[in-house]
Amino acid sequence: MRYLFIDLDNTIYSPEDIHFNHIKPFADFVYLLIENDLNVDRNDFYKNFISFSLGELFAHYKIDIESFKNQFPKNRFFKDELKISPFSGYKELKNLSFPMFLVTTGLKEFQEQKISSLGIKNDFLKIVIDDPVFNPIGKKKAFQNLLNEFNLNKKDVWVIGDNPHSEILAGKELGLNTVLLDKKGKQISQVTTLQSLSEAAKFIKNT
Ligand SMILES: [Mg+2]
Repeated sequence: MRYLFIDLDNTIYSPEDIHFNHIKPFADFVYLLIENDLNVDRNDFYKNFISFSLGELFAHYKIDIESFKNQFPKNRFFKDELKISPFSGYKELKNLSFPMFLVTTGLKEFQEQKISSLGIKNDFLKIVIDDPVFNPIGKKKAFQNLLNEFNLNKKDVWVIGDNPHSEILAGKELGLNTVLLDKKGKQISQVTTLQSLSEAAKFIKNT
């Protein structure tokens, strides 16, 4: 049996499919936290907001997590319906019928909305959201917790993701099998790099 630890953003679907208007209220909220301290051009900020992870954004603009938490609104940020779909290869991965776990980093509210829009919630034995603000656990700890909770053998676990510094690094450090997805096929030493989920499904099935 094989067990799959799968990343969400840019692994199961393309974040480029999320229209900026959808995240603009959230971007504006973060911008308000920094605009008094720094002379940051709003459009430059928007560009960074799209390309940075939340953790990178906090570091770049020296955003204090406590003030972010205190001012985070109680009502939902992401009101409009999100319309995103999984990459075509996702079905091939799912059809392998290996137990799957979703481990994703991001704001819980937003990640849950993506999962709901993608219609993938029931595909996973467990979903772990590593929320950098409200529940920061990190991918390595999240993986270790899953290994313990489900009593998994490391050699049976495959980590699939697009970020060599996040899930792939965590998987390597724990001695798990890893598959890095890179659309351009950029190779990294000591890491199996494939271009799509479809290729990953074939590779894991035949390895
Ligand atoms: Mg990702």
